[in-house]
Parts: sequence; C-alpha cells; structure tokens
Amino acid sequence: MRHDTHRNRARTIRQQIVDLLSEDEMSARELSQAIGIREKEVYDHLFHVARSTAAQSKRLILQPSRCLMCGYVFEDRKRLTRPGRCPRCKGSHLQQPTYRVR
Ligand SMILES: [Zn+2]
Repeated sequence: MRHDTHRNRARTIRQQIVDLLSEDEMSARELSQAIGIREKEVYDHLFHVARSTAAQSKRLILQPSRCLMCGYVFEDRKRLTRPGRCPRCKGSHLQQPTYRVR
C-alpha cells in the first residue's frame, strides 16, 4: 500500500507541474517553491513529464540557460538540469533554464 501511495503522490506532483507549466514559464526553483518539493526532485519529475506530455501530443519546452556574464546561450544542452559553469567565459552567474508545456 505504501508503494501505491508513493506512486499516487508522484502522479499528483507531475500533474501539478503540467498544470503550472501550461499556465506560465517557470524555473525548477520556482516549481519547487510552488509545489513544496526539493529542486532536485523537480528534475526527476520533469524527466517523466517530458515523456508523458509527448504521449499526449504536448511538449515540454526547455528555455535554455544563459550566461549573465557574456550572454552565452546553452542551446545545445539537452539535459534538463541547469549547467554549473559557462564554457566560454567560465563564469558561474547563469540564468536558470525555464520550462513550459504547450
Ligand atoms: Zn559566459
């Protein structure tokens, strides 16, 4: 039973993520605050959301991070988590990626 409860909770959180991202563009930090889970957990859920939205002919759109120092955009980055450091200027002042469901 405990396992079922855990699964249902995960499903509820993912539904909340889809609802929030259908309304507005948000970063993982904003999602974590809105839902009340840790930022690290948000990425796990986003991974599943990306797959489940594809099945519903919707799409999880990743707005890539941008370096606040030199303006480098992480266009080619496919991973959902945020990068730690800019490859061009080695700066670590990066704008967080944001997500949107359409
Ligand atoms: Zn940079």
